[in-house]
Amino acid sequence: MRVALISEHASPLAVLGGEDAGGQNTHVAELAAALVDAGHEVRVYTRRDAPDLPVTVRAPDGFDVVHVPAGPAEPLAKDELLPHMREFSHWLVERWRGGDWTPEVIHAHFWMSGLAALSAGGRTGVPVVQTYHALGTVKRRHQGVQDTSPARRVAYERELGCSVDRVVAQCRDEVGELVRMGVPRSRMTIIPSGVNLNTFTPLGPAAERVPGRARILTVGRLVERKGFQTVIRAMAHVPDAECVVVGGPPAGLLESDPYARRLRALAASCGMADRVRLVGAVPREEMGRWYRSADVLVAAPWYEPFGLTPLEAMACGIPVIGTAVGGLTDTVVPGRTGDLVPARDPRALGTAVQGLLTDRIRRFGYATAALDRARRCYSWAATAEKLAEVYGEVTAVRRPTRVVAG
Ligand code: UDP
Repeated sequence: MRVALISEHASPLAVLGGEDAGGQNTHVAELAAALVDAGHEVRVYTRRDAPDLPVTVRAPDGFDVVHVPAGPAEPLAKDELLPHMREFSHWLVERWRGGDWTPEVIHAHFWMSGLAALSAGGRTGVPVVQTYHALGTVKRRHQGVQDTSPARRVAYERELGCSVDRVVAQCRDEVGELVRMGVPRSRMTIIPSGVNLNTFTPLGPAAERVPGRARILTVGRLVERKGFQTVIRAMAHVPDAECVVVGGPPAGLLESDPYARRLRALAASCGMADRVRLVGAVPREEMGRWYRSADVLVAAPWYEPFGLTPLEAMACGIPVIGTAVGGLTDTVVPGRTGDLVPARDPRALGTAVQGLLTDRIRRFGYATAALDRARRCYSWAATAEKLAEVYGEVTAVRRPTRVVAG
């Protein structure tokens, strides 16, 4: 099939770890590669955010990345992109009407991509599949006034859910959220993200360790909702271990990052400056080294639409202690591959981590089961196969799509 993936702010070619570059970029890159492996033709459409970018770039994994001119050719925060989605969708329509390549299905990633997809799909008669990656309702609930999303985000997300040909949710928690928003369950299929089982393996080089110290690893964009403060506070209950934080700006720029400075100040005020280490952004191909160097991955977000890092750790044979939120409640099996604790509770987190670090036999059991679960349930090949089934279904039965915006 000819598949157009739309990912307005998250390019599969981006460097990860920065504020708006994380799981969606990885997801789109891995999904595109897996679809190509399965014999599909894939183009990923993302916003042109630098003046010197060629319109089309062939990625090493065999898909094309198309840079769509929409708004200024410079980086913009994702919350500023909505006004440029009309231009984005018009460009797609012109390309697909006049060019030699028209998709048979459009798969939109994130809600603004969905608006562009629905508009372009409506004009060209191509069905649209929607994956949200994150929901405005959840963000608003947790971030309150700090949420800078456009005011109409939640309304658009609801309309999208009721208008696209299929919603692909990534976990059961997301389905519940969408149903509460008023999106009918019958319009949804659950297909989780995968993990790259060639990149993330238990065997291979590991980052250096401090002799005699257990290592807790925590990974993510340096944003508050990832719960790094909870992890640092939890270290009070985990004597003799170090906490390594991967993600954020490159190491050289950590000093000028306000949140990184806050985390370091917190560690110092808890008397843990020598046990908490921020290493900054790590290239995707180096992530396996860091997972393999750890005794446990801790993922302590307030909320998490899916969460790739726990799966990546599991595929490296590392147990996960996470908060019982979002996708983690599907990927982590408490008492078998890791443990789940309430969010924002340093004592519960620290106690769970310390319990696991002091129980070698349980840690070994979790590690083995985590690896097994990642391999059995979360390969990208399986994700691509299930998605291709959905693509086949929506192209076989066309229902009229409605233009929401632009
Ligand atoms: N990542 C990376 N380098 C970093 C930090 C993160 O390559 O320094 C990758 C990580 O391996 C994962 C993604 O970024 O693939 C983060 O995805 P996740 O779903 O955990 O979080 P999100 O960023 O979507 O909130």
